[in-house]
Amino acid sequence: MYLADMTWDDVRNYLKKEDCLILPVGTCEQHGYHLPLNNDILSVEYFASKLSELTGVMVAPTINYGVNLPCDKLLSGTTGITYDLLRNLILSVTDWWRSQGFKKFILLTFHGDPYHIKALSDLAPDIFVIEAYEIEYQDVLEKQTTMRHACEAETSIALYLYPDKVKMNCVKEYDIPFEKFKEYLYHENTNQPENYTGCLGFPSLATKEKGEILVNRILEYLLSCFNEIKNK
Ligand SMILES: [Zn+2]
Repeated sequence: MYLADMTWDDVRNYLKKEDCLILPVGTCEQHGYHLPLNNDILSVEYFASKLSELTGVMVAPTINYGVNLPCDKLLSGTTGITYDLLRNLILSVTDWWRSQGFKKFILLTFHGDPYHIKALSDLAPDIFVIEAYEIEYQDVLEKQTTMRHACEAETSIALYLYPDKVKMNCVKEYDIPFEKFKEYLYHENTNQPENYTGCLGFPSLATKEKGEILVNRILEYLLSCFNEIKNK
């Protein structure tokens, strides 16, 4: 159920029964040689629409830009907005919706840049954030224990959600262990890491089957986060 597809009167009627709104937050970010720049948008929109189906809560138009790693700046097509702009954008749109009767805003994102997540956090007591990738991976993946970037997990999810856009024949894999990548992840080093291909972890091991397990696990996780927020 999409807010933007409704008339204002439909939304007013919705607000008589429900006061929650899901706001997907994507980003325009390189995902290696094999996934499109809108990977995090496609994924978050899928999860938002499923969560809406399961709960009857409406989905607002996606925010298509987010905060990205400075080391990705020269990877063509990637772009980002500042931490302050992302916060102000969310505060600005939710301000109007709040005055119409919306009481809880659920920011849903599939993009894990730490400053992106920080920008979505602690905005207001009625704005909640769910990081849609916060699940267990170890039992499903072969060479990773956690989610990385355009990795075995993220690529498996893409293969399950939108196989036509995944170029498995173009995968260029060069893993940089988490400890070594940390300075780039936390925006301390803004240069491009040596031998960086834009992906981390082991995307060559991605399969649709792993993706299906992870997607279902994420949906379960989202539902439990949603119920927790509803009961607050
Ligand atoms: Zn991503």
